Amino acid sequence: MTYDLVKYGQTGAVAVIEQNRPDKRNAQNQLMLTEIEAALDRAATDASVRVIVIGGIGGHFSAGHDLREGEEKRANLSVEERWAYEEKHFYGLCLKIWDCPKPTIARVQGACVSGAFMMANMCDLIVASDDAYFADPVVHSLGAASVEILVHPWVMGLRRAKEMLFTGERMTAAEANAIGLVNRIAPVAELDNAAMALALRIAEAPPFGVRLTKRSLNHGHDLAGFRSALEAHFTAHELSHFSREYLATVTRGLGAAVDQGKRLLAG
Ligand code: ZN
Repeated sequence: MTYDLVKYGQTGAVAVIEQNRPDKRNAQNQLMLTEIEAALDRAATDASVRVIVIGGIGGHFSAGHDLREGEEKRANLSVEERWAYEEKHFYGLCLKIWDCPKPTIARVQGACVSGAFMMANMCDLIVASDDAYFADPVVHSLGAASVEILVHPWVMGLRRAKEMLFTGERMTAAEANAIGLVNRIAPVAELDNAAMALALRIAEAPPFGVRLTKRSLNHGHDLAGFRSALEAHFTAHELSHFSREYLATVTRGLGAAVDQGKRLLAG
C-alpha cells in the first residue's frame, strides 16, 4: 500500500502513522484525511500491531484542515454536500480514532491547531514536545461554531475550554501537561523516542485485556454524555457554516482567515 501524504511504518508491535506534508505545516487536505483513515484501518486490522502512534513529519503536528483547498473545492457546497463531506472526513474520522480497538497515542510537536487539535484529542494518550501548542481559533478567524468535534471541555475542563474558544489563544505544552490534556512532555529532539517508549511499554500488555479496558473506559465516557455532546455540536457546527458571520469570512476569502488565525496564535 502506498500513500502520498502519509508515512506508514512499524517498530515491533507499534504502527506509526505520520502526516507527511511538512512544507504546508501538515495542513490536512482531503487526500491526507483519506489516507489517515486507510492507514488506521490497516493498523487496526493488522494482527502484528498492538499500539498506534499518530504524528507529523517536520516542525509541526498539523496546522489543521487545509482551508485553501476548502476555498478552491468546497466554498459553495450545499448543506447536504457539506454535511456529507464533514461527516465522513472530520466527524467520522475522529470517531474512528475514538472507537479504534487498539490504543492510540498522538505524538505532537509545534502546532496542533483546530482540526488537528480535535484529531489528537481523539487519541487515548498524548505525548508532546516542549515546543508544542494547542489552539482552536476558528470562532475568531472563521466565525464558525468551534471545530466539528467539540472535544475541548472533556479534555481540559469546562472553564478552560471556554477561555480557549472565546479568546482563540494558544495553550502551551507545559500548561496542557499540567491540566492533564497531555500525558508526557519531552524535548523536541527526544519526542519520537519518548512516544515510542510509551507505545512499546503498552504493547507489552496482553492486547485483548488492553482492548477491553479501553472499551470500558470509553463506554463510561459515552454514558456520561461524551458521544451525544459531540453529535449535538456537529449539528451546530454545520449550521454555523451558513451563518452571516461565516459567509462574511468566505467573502473575504479563507486565505485571509488563515492569516488571521496565524496572527491570533502569534499572540
Ligand atoms: Zn466545518
